[in-house]
This record gives sequence, C-alpha cells and structure tokens, in this order.
Amino acid sequence: RFITLEGGEGTGKSTQARRLAAYLRTLGHEVVETREPGGSPGAEAVRHVLLSGAAEPFGAEAEALLFAAARADHLEIVIRPALAAGRIVVCDRFVDSTRVYQGAVGQVPAALLDTLEAATVGGTLPDLTLILDVPPELGLARAAERGKGAVADRFEREGTDYHAQVREAFLARAAAAPERCVVVDARGGVDEVAAAIARIVDARLGL
Ligand code: C5P
Repeated sequence: RFITLEGGEGTGKSTQARRLAAYLRTLGHEVVETREPGGSPGAEAVRHVLLSGAAEPFGAEAEALLFAAARADHLEIVIRPALAAGRIVVCDRFVDSTRVYQGAVGQVPAALLDTLEAATVGGTLPDLTLILDVPPELGLARAAERGKGAVADRFEREGTDYHAQVREAFLARAAAAPERCVVVDARGGVDEVAAAIARIVDARLGL
C-alpha cells in the first residue's frame, strides 16, 4: 500500500508521517518512510539543488523537470521496489505537491505536468492521500516557530496570502479526487491528529 501526506508548511506532515509509520509498525507491517523532493540518494541530490537556491537561474518549467527527475529516481530506487516487496510506503509529499506548488502557485501548464506525471508516476498513484489542513495563520505561525534559528529554504515564503493560496489548491486537489484523498483537520495537537489519521487509515485501507 502507498500512503502520501500532503499539505502546506506548518501543517505537521512530517511529524504525522513518522507517527503513522510507527502506528503501522505496531500493527505488524513493514513500513518504508520516505519524502519528496528526495527519498533516494539521487533525488536527495536534486533536492539540494532545488532547495539550496542553486536552481534559482532555472525557469519554472525546467524546475518542474528537476522535480520530475527526482521523482522518477525515487520511484525506481525506493517506492516501486518497496511496494513490490509488500511493504507499506508512507511518503511525505508526492504528486499533489507538484500540482499545488509547480501548477497552481508556479503556473507551470497543466499539460506539461500531465505529461511528466504520466512519464514518471504512471500507475503508481497513492492508495490514500491525507491532506493536512490548517488555517493559513496557524500554518504560518507553526512554520515560523519551527524556523527559528534555521535557514529557510527558498520555497518557504511568508505571508498569509501565499499560505491561503497553497491551502486552497490542496483543498481543490482533495475535492477533485475524493476516492483517493481525505482532508484531515490538523489544527489539534500531535496526538489528536495522529489518532484521527489512524482512524482514517483503518477505515479506508483496513490494514
Ligand atoms: O515538505 P518540505 O518542507 O520538506 O518541502 C520542501 C520545500 O519544497 C517546501 O518549501 C515546499 O514548498 C517545496 N516544494 C515545492 N514543490 C514540490 C514539493 C516541495 O516547491 N513539488
């Protein structure tokens, strides 16, 4: 089974991905925890190029190709072998982040993203996507809190408008694919959200 977590910054995705993997292990499953951009050595190298600012000279479409290259490697080296071996893959960000950040926010034409998705993901779509949702003000506050003393990556932008735009784009993705996506109210504490996610995963996938 393939489960992805999506959402803007400050929604708690990474923490909840860890908690979900731990929960699934308590049920006796073998779980591979991974993330995008990155997740394989080659894709992590591309992540560094993308997030460090070294990709700044690239245009939006070239950047989308870099994200796609990272995903192709991640799928080939990590995700597909794990799924083939019967493991559960829990991935922090996947195709929906591309549609939100490169598509809705970055304005890369949907036709190009369709082509890239067909060429990289093909049929390896998630069985379940959890879209973590918080109001823009809360996401912004949490991201700022976490970012204290840290160097923000070049995609981390401030401003409620930006966070609101990202949030709306994720909600639109969820509405367009209700058979795959579930929106999770992520305003609560870590334990509360983890429990909600466990219930959703149980109900949807019966693991
Ligand atoms: O989830 P994480 O914070 O590791 O994501 C790293 C950054 O990459 C985020 O700031 C996110 O906005 C950006 N990103 C992106 N396009 C993607 C995936 C992530 O711009 N497809």
